[in-house]
Amino acid sequence: MICEKLKKDEIVNILSSDDKVLLKELKDKAYSVKKELLGQNIYLRGIIEYSNVCSKNCYYCGLRKDNLNFKRYILDDDLVLDLAKLSHDKNLGSILIQSGELKSKEFTNKIYNLLKKINKITNEKLHVVLSCGEQSEDTFKKWFDAGAKRYLLRIETSDENLYKKIHPNDKTHSFKERIKSIEILKKLNYQTGSGILIGFPGETESDIAKDLLFLKNLDLDMVGMGPYVEHDMTPLFNEKNKFSRAKRFNLAIKAISILRIMMPDINIASSTALDVFNPNGRFLALEHGANVIMPNLTPLKFKEKYFLYDGKPGVDTMLDDYLKILEDKVSLMGEKICYKEHGTSLHFKKRIREC
Ligand code: SF4
Repeated sequence: MICEKLKKDEIVNILSSDDKVLLKELKDKAYSVKKELLGQNIYLRGIIEYSNVCSKNCYYCGLRKDNLNFKRYILDDDLVLDLAKLSHDKNLGSILIQSGELKSKEFTNKIYNLLKKINKITNEKLHVVLSCGEQSEDTFKKWFDAGAKRYLLRIETSDENLYKKIHPNDKTHSFKERIKSIEILKKLNYQTGSGILIGFPGETESDIAKDLLFLKNLDLDMVGMGPYVEHDMTPLFNEKNKFSRAKRFNLAIKAISILRIMMPDINIASSTALDVFNPNGRFLALEHGANVIMPNLTPLKFKEKYFLYDGKPGVDTMLDDYLKILEDKVSLMGEKICYKEHGTSLHFKKRIREC
């Protein structure tokens, strides 16, 4: 019987299993937990890939500083504001401004000013989620005060040794600082999200099980996690991986279901990376317990330069077309798209009430 208090061994067993009966039980349980607590509702979060400039050098990421094989950009403020307005007009409820990590005053001020302007032109109706890496407490606070209410900072792995294997071993890429930043975000009352990379070279099912328990212990409000997708211009590309692409996809889908059962009231995003391995990947994740989907709003000419990994989907799909496809597929599942709603995490609402 799969229940909320899964132990590590039980999680490893599920992650390693091909037993169709067990996997059907997992999927059914995850979906029924989601349906019972959060309803048959799917929330939209439009992604704006604000900049592909990054000061870091993570070994798995195409945007790493040392990858000199593509052009860097920072979107013009006017374009970001147009995209925010478009999201508001299309009733998306929330947007995610995502960027490589920069800590310069120029960058942090730009984000601050954008937040202020977005709130103004949308009458504070559009919620902004930021995913702009680790920042100082002052910067997090300044952005919060300017209107950012949610923040996503993925930990990628909860094992410090593995963390050191997929990041340079230096002060800029510190595991402890990453955790500290997540704690600061929670303290500042951000709706706080994190996530993991599933199936990268050197990882095992046991590591992923530990990650899922770690995410639960962090008491997060939202999680975004997806399969590791290799990028040929990164150091991790040639590392031996025990997980095939198909296995990574299955692990990610199982991890979503397991986490939904362990953390019933959080928001779980259906990650874009799932579509790399299966054209229906993001929809399958919704059937397995995810409740947030993220249409990409970045204009085509910039989308093509935001290559976190190879084969990124959706670079030629226009928003209207995508929303139509989404509505049709979601309604076949008996779910509905919640336009005009922010999709605030139920877990966050409870956490704030308890403060
Ligand atoms: S994962 Fe994030 S911080 Fe690391 S190189 Fe990529 S964009 Fe930069």
